[in-house]
Amino acid sequence: MAPRRPPTQRGPAAAVSRRLLARVRDVMAGPGSAERRLDKLTEIIAADMVAEVCSIYVRRPGDVLELFATKGLKPTAVHVTRLSVGEGLIGEIAARARPFALADAQEHPSFAYRPETGEEIYFSLMGVPILRGGRVIGVLAVQNRTRRQYQEEEVETLQTVAMVLAELVAGGELIGRDDLVADDGAEPTALRIDGIRLAGGLGIGRAVLHQPHLTIEKLVAENPDDEHRRLSEAFTGMHGALDDMLGGDKLAERGEHRDILESYRMIAEDAGWVARIGEAIDTGLTAEAAVQRVRDDIRARMSQVTDPYLRERVHDFDDLANRLLQHLIGGGARPAARAIPANAILIARSMGPAELLDYDPAKLKGLVLEEGSPVAHVTVVARALEIPVVGRAQGAADRIEPGDAVIVDGDNAQVVIRPGEDVRAAYRQSLQALEVQKARYAALRDREPVTRDGQRISLSINAGLMIDMAHLKQSGADGVGLFRTEIPFMVHADFPDVETQFKVYARVLDEAGGKPVQFRTLDVGGDKTLPYWHEAGENNPALGWRAIRVSLDHPAMLRRQLRALTEAAAGRELRVMFPMITEVAELDAARELLERELARTKARGEPAPARVLVGAMLEVPGLLFQLPALLERVDFLSVGSNDLAQFLFASDRTNQRLAERYDELSPAMLAVLKTVVEQCAAARVPVSVCGEMAGRPVDAMALVGLGFRSLSMATPSIGPVKEMILSLDAGRLSQYLSTLIDPAEHSMREKLKDFARDHGVVV
Ligand code: PEP
Ligand code: MG
Repeated sequence: MAPRRPPTQRGPAAAVSRRLLARVRDVMAGPGSAERRLDKLTEIIAADMVAEVCSIYVRRPGDVLELFATKGLKPTAVHVTRLSVGEGLIGEIAARARPFALADAQEHPSFAYRPETGEEIYFSLMGVPILRGGRVIGVLAVQNRTRRQYQEEEVETLQTVAMVLAELVAGGELIGRDDLVADDGAEPTALRIDGIRLAGGLGIGRAVLHQPHLTIEKLVAENPDDEHRRLSEAFTGMHGALDDMLGGDKLAERGEHRDILESYRMIAEDAGWVARIGEAIDTGLTAEAAVQRVRDDIRARMSQVTDPYLRERVHDFDDLANRLLQHLIGGGARPAARAIPANAILIARSMGPAELLDYDPAKLKGLVLEEGSPVAHVTVVARALEIPVVGRAQGAADRIEPGDAVIVDGDNAQVVIRPGEDVRAAYRQSLQALEVQKARYAALRDREPVTRDGQRISLSINAGLMIDMAHLKQSGADGVGLFRTEIPFMVHADFPDVETQFKVYARVLDEAGGKPVQFRTLDVGGDKTLPYWHEAGENNPALGWRAIRVSLDHPAMLRRQLRALTEAAAGRELRVMFPMITEVAELDAARELLERELARTKARGEPAPARVLVGAMLEVPGLLFQLPALLERVDFLSVGSNDLAQFLFASDRTNQRLAERYDELSPAMLAVLKTVVEQCAAARVPVSVCGEMAGRPVDAMALVGLGFRSLSMATPSIGPVKEMILSLDAGRLSQYLSTLIDPAEHSMREKLKDFARDHGVVV
């Protein structure tokens, strides 16, 4: 679809700005030193904008803005007046990356008087950031003696001029390119950047800088109508390419990726965005320069945005702008057409999900993002493709050169750049060891997890994405012990309706091929936020309005989810469990809603599940004191040991400083788990553990020793835990455990490790 033609600005302001741009272009292309040309530009801009002053500040290392050229301020102030970013109005413009237009600048709280400039006689000030690739590299300002009200079109014009000017400032003649923004001093040859873990794993390869680096040759247009036509054609081309991508085989199989891309396709038609590009053309820019200008503007503003959902949308616009540029000046070739090495490590500032899929996933060994967040669409897609990702790797795009050797250590949230041969060899060895191990686990796929003394332990996976269901088959696990339904909710732009949820749950059950799946109802709140659900911040989110509390306060929402589950499980077994039950009354209330949905299905004569099993998650210690009553009401129990430990120890699970402080193998936690397993056995209610400890071999060994016969864990843990089980004598461990627990100890971990070593248990 061609974009709607934006409302055009063809008044005198547009004519003025086009005339000014043409003159700016001539000076820039003309003779003389860069400094001389800069001086000339201040004269032209001041004259054209009817301002007494025009000044250009350039950002130097150390976040200092230095006056480089001026018409109107005292010439002796040039290279003398310096302001820190954030200091005075000029510094404020740079810090916020936005224009200021003030009739009485001296009244503004940020005004900083610099006597050497003689600016006290100028009242009004209009300034805009000079942007390059979304970074502020300087400030362009005009001033007037009178209290002048600058018009919006004048601000636009000054922004357009600043964009053209950016070429001269960044050209390397005024100050060295390396000094322009960065303040890193000499770059050491090897470098480590610490970021955040977005997807685990280890990747070793050669850097490929994702930014397409399209050079825009022509900034100033001859004829705006031609540019509007070119823009329209580029939009048509881009939409067509996105449609092709959506229809491609690569995505046909992957439910949630498709959803992400479809919402992205809608953004591509965002009327506001299209209109802003059109307006930028009307100020005299070529179509590509207009796209770049709007992109830089959005990028610069992004640094101010804290809302994660909005930030993701900004990334989408960034991604789409690059695509549009590709169509305008790159002949429409998709970046994937560029060959990437077989071991590529992709380095990007930020990235959209579609962009990642432009590359051959088989060749991508890692991804480094300067931004990125755990809930970003690209992260979800990368994780599903098993590509290690480190996010918030500050300065990565500037510090890494194409072809550099790079190691992405997703597990430790580190990026190692240009490592020496020793370091590389060490990582290569780890990678090889990981691969050998992987092969060993793959060989165990069809082995039943039975202990040496004949105890069959059920091993299930924790899942949340459709791609996890493929892992169910590959791992040979017994089923899905925990399906986190909030993950499909997180990748949508809005609350999914019954139909959308139904499709997800039905496919999960199809993919499970008859193996049991325990669906947990929506568990949001705490550290799991839905991008579209804005609730006021809480002082103690982990103890706050989350999980079943939210669902019971929004019964219609929970019923929609239960309806989708009921319909999806028609003719099959449905297992539902409710998270964070704190008292039996909550389970009763949730169960009541489920009964109503089942009654509704029946009343309407619709096919019902063949069997319904209802479970509760044991995550809150208070519930321990109501276990007998609870066990009368549930078909199964699942111990969420992550939350249980958090509440038992009163220790925030997201607080890094407390991460090592308490051990889940402490006597207190083991005592709790022991009473749970005993009471469940007495009540004949099946029980499993689905928190992280179930996936750690030593901890899983302790759980089996306590009497647990069902564990659910992240897929990569299935192999190591199975290996432990195959080498364990469970009876012997149980006996030993009963004599081992010393209530005064901090942890039983070391003693359990000793047991494993002495008895040949692989942990
Ligand atoms: C748990 O708390 O142990 C659990 C499995 O749930 P989540 O980690 O999703 O809170
Ligand atoms: Mg939990």
